[in-house]
Amino acid sequence: MKSAVTPLSEIRESITRTCQVASRKPDITLIAVSKTHPAERIVPLLEQGHRVFGENRVQETQEKWGDLLERFPDTELHLVGQLQSNKAEEAVDWFDCIHSLDRPSLVKALAKAMDKADRRVPCFIQVNIGAEDQKGGCAIADLPDLLKQARDANIPLAGLMCVPPVGIEPAPFFALLDKLARDNGLSEQDGGGLSMGMSSDYETAIMLGATHIRVGSALFGEREG
Ligand SMILES: *Cc1c(COP(=O)(O)O)cnc(C)c1O
Repeated sequence: MKSAVTPLSEIRESITRTCQVASRKPDITLIAVSKTHPAERIVPLLEQGHRVFGENRVQETQEKWGDLLERFPDTELHLVGQLQSNKAEEAVDWFDCIHSLDRPSLVKALAKAMDKADRRVPCFIQVNIGAEDQKGGCAIADLPDLLKQARDANIPLAGLMCVPPVGIEPAPFFALLDKLARDNGLSEQDGGGLSMGMSSDYETAIMLGATHIRVGSALFGEREG
């Protein structure tokens, strides 16, 4: 079964409605996750004025976005996938925000790449919120140290990011990420963002404090393979 695509305007309305229910200002950053989808699927959203997109592979981003960025130069690209240290330089060149900083070696690689490019790219620290073996993200116990290392390396912090385990109610994991941000003194000015919520659960995430939601299949349809 092919999943239905939700128009951008409907997703925006649903964000606004959820913010009303949660008594929040509707200043949520909607990241349209366009990974695996070709440029011609992305252009309609750009033409509707959307300017914040997410990708999960450096190489795919370079291949797809070169021309698109020439046409729509005010676009912001967010990296939402695992990043290998040897791709740090390219990631710093191409992305405006990185959501997957999760280990000391990557702090080092990104700090070096940012120094070299003379460009500071805000980073979310990804937390392995469900303690899953196969998932990226730092262990909850390692978060204070990693935050300190990132600060010491002069990496601008955007906040915390998580991808909860699949097939189980995500709300407790979102609430936990919010608590971790507060426990670690991440205030709103100082990287207190929360990148959480995807197509199936972004409204729940907004209720629980998300500042950045990452929505792919609701906007673009199911990914192949
Ligand atoms: C693919 C991806 C998304 C988008 O997921 P959908 O369920 O398609 O909305 C969000 N976050 C990350 C980290 C992803 O890899």
